[in-house]
Amino acid sequence: MATVKVILAGPRGQMGMAARRMIAATEAFETIAYLDRKSAEESGLQEGIPVYTDATECFSMHEADVLIDLTTPETAKEHLKLAIEHSIRPVIGTTGFTDEEIDQLRNLTEEKQLGAMIVPNFALGAVLMMKFSQIAAKFYSDVEIIERHHDNKLDAPSGTALKTATLISEVRNEKVQGHPNETETLRGARGGDVEGMRIHSVRLPGSVAHQEVIFGGHGETLTIRHDSMNRDSFMPGVKLAVETVMKSSTLIYGLENIID
Ligand code: NAP
Repeated sequence: MATVKVILAGPRGQMGMAARRMIAATEAFETIAYLDRKSAEESGLQEGIPVYTDATECFSMHEADVLIDLTTPETAKEHLKLAIEHSIRPVIGTTGFTDEEIDQLRNLTEEKQLGAMIVPNFALGAVLMMKFSQIAAKFYSDVEIIERHHDNKLDAPSGTALKTATLISEVRNEKVQGHPNETETLRGARGGDVEGMRIHSVRLPGSVAHQEVIFGGHGETLTIRHDSMNRDSFMPGVKLAVETVMKSSTLIYGLENIID
């Protein structure tokens, strides 16, 4: 495979630093520019790789194959559209796109015959956890999800917990769980309700991204659990997404659509 020329946005962030390690360790990938909020002098990035603070300038100056964007959801959205305009294949690790936006972006990529990926969860193990949970839900209607994240996370429940519940609801026999007369003496004690399933969100320093899906049956429970210990856990998924956009000519949403 010819070398994949990458522009990395957000190189100083925790995900960005892990991506720099991943790219450096991948013979077929090469970083040709960084897109940052800070200039080269301010950012302290002194690796001989040019640093840009303006995305249009960065995308115009370099014939890149792929943009890996690990900034913020709002910035990533802007960069995604600009990258498509410049025929650079975007790999974005963020949530917050409506179905209409995804359809519009898919049309744009297909007009240009350009690969693109939006990946709400880059952890291969987390995607497998969701797939395994959907299989288990055919046999068990009672299920609760406990997700645990670092205390800088702004949204609850996590996108992964909601996605897991959605996938389960596609196959699970609808059921309101717990005792029919149960009451909460402490508001929120039973967690959030998705079609009778309960989701519990824990926020603690020291955590990264963790989830347990617990199924209850007759005299048994089945727990499917995934733990991301650090940001490196997301990098095999980022690598796979980069390889995929190089072969694809449309926008793909979610790693689950490329691992069978
Ligand atoms: P982080 O440590 O806060 O890093 C974000 C980086 O982006 C910071 O260096 C920040 O610079 C930079 N940045 C912000 N706005 C920018 C802009 N306009 N242009 C260029 N750079 C900009 O966060 P993180 O934990 O690495 O996460 C990064 C992103 O990945 C987040 O959106 C997060 O939700 C997402 N994420 C996705 C997954 C997944 O599996 N899909 C997993 C983990 C994280 P400053 O420091 O100057 O603000």
